[in-house]
Amino acid sequence: MTGLIKPHGSDQLIPLMLEGAELEPAKKRATELKQVPLSSREFGDLIMLGIGGFTPLKGFMGKADWEGVCRDMKTTDGLFWPIPITLSTEQATADALNEGEEVALTFGGGIVGTLTLQEKYSIDKAFECEHVFTTTEEEHPGVKMVMEQGDINLAGPVQVFSQGDFPQRFAGIYKTPAETRAEFEKRGWNNVAAFQTRNPLHRSHEYLVKIAIEICDGVMIHSLLGNLKPGDIPADVRTKAISTLVDNYFVDNTVLQAGYPLDMRYAGPREALLHAVFRQNYGCSYLIVGRDHAGVGDYYGPFDAHDIFDKVPEGALLTKPLKIDWTFWCEACNSMASMKTCPHDAEHRLLLSGSKLRKLLSEGGDVPENFSRPEVLTILREHYEGLADEDRVEVKLSGASAK
Ligand SMILES: [Zn+2]
Repeated sequence: MTGLIKPHGSDQLIPLMLEGAELEPAKKRATELKQVPLSSREFGDLIMLGIGGFTPLKGFMGKADWEGVCRDMKTTDGLFWPIPITLSTEQATADALNEGEEVALTFGGGIVGTLTLQEKYSIDKAFECEHVFTTTEEEHPGVKMVMEQGDINLAGPVQVFSQGDFPQRFAGIYKTPAETRAEFEKRGWNNVAAFQTRNPLHRSHEYLVKIAIEICDGVMIHSLLGNLKPGDIPADVRTKAISTLVDNYFVDNTVLQAGYPLDMRYAGPREALLHAVFRQNYGCSYLIVGRDHAGVGDYYGPFDAHDIFDKVPEGALLTKPLKIDWTFWCEACNSMASMKTCPHDAEHRLLLSGSKLRKLLSEGGDVPENFSRPEVLTILREHYEGLADEDRVEVKLSGASAK
C-alpha cells in the first residue's frame, strides 16, 4: 500500500490518454473530424489532462465551471480549482461546430486528441484576468495570452493521443504523475516536497530545497518544460545545470529531477495554488513556496503566494505549502540564511535577482562568490557564449526591464 498523498479530488489518477489497442482506431476516426487548432498553452493543458496531472478534470471547462473557478476557485461540483482550464477558438471556427459533435484537436500540424463538444460560450476576458491575474494590463504576459486568445471557448470531455515531443526531447526528465509516484515508492519516500522552477538553481534555491530535505523523505525538483518569456534560460540548459548541482552538492537519493509540460501563466498566487494542485497528483505532499512564486514584474507582493494558501477551505487541497522567507548568502552570518534567521543589515546580504544574473552572464561579467555554484555558472556561461547577437540583445533587454 502506498504511503503517498492521494490525487486531487480522487482516490486514483484519471489519465485521459488513449493507449494500446484503443489508440490507432481513435486516431484514424479523428482524421474524419473537423479540426480545432490548440495554442501552446492549451496543448500543455491537454497533455496534463492526458497524463492525469489535472486529475480529476475530464476535459476543458464549460461556462459555469469557468466562472466558478475565476470567482471562487471552485467548479460547480465543488472541486477546488484555482485557474480556468479552457480551450478557445475563433468565432468562425466555432460557428462551424455543433454541440454534441466530436472534433479533432490539432497542434503543430498533427491531431493530438479529440473533444466531444458540450458547450460553446463567450467569456468576459477582463473578468477572467481581474480574478486570475488581479490585473487587466496587457503588459502582463498571462493577461496578454488571454486577451489574444479566440473569442469563443469550447468545452467538453477530451481524449488525448499525444504528449508532443516532451518524452523524446526531455528523456529522463519528463515524467507522468504515475511515473513519479512509482519512483517515490521505489525509493521508499512517503513525504515528498516539490520544488517548482523555471530557472537554474543558485545557492538560494539550493538552500530552499535542502530545508525541505531536512524535514521530508525527498524533494522533486520539478521544472517547467513548456514556453517561457523571451530571455529565460531554455529548459535543456536549465536541466543540465540542475543535474550538475544535484550531482555535486546533494546526498544520493534525496532529489528526483523531473519536468512537466505546461507553459507559464505568470499568475503569481493563483498559479502557486495550481502548482500545489497538480503536485498533489504527482505524489507530493508539500510545495516549496518562496518569494514571489510564479510572479512577473511587480504585479504581486513578495508573499502573496504564501497568503493565498490561508484562503483555501480546509480539506479542499491536501498538498500544503512550505512557506519560506527570502533566502540568501549573508557575509556576516557566513552562511546561507533567510530574512527570518539573519539579524544583519542588507549590506551583508548577497541579493541578486535572476534577471540581474542573466544580464551579468550575458555581458560576460563576474558573478559574486557564494551566489551560485561554479559548476552551474560554467554551464550558464557556455549557454550565453553560444547565443547569437540578437538573442543576447533580447536577454539584455528583458534583464534590464524585469526587476
Ligand atoms: Zn546575516
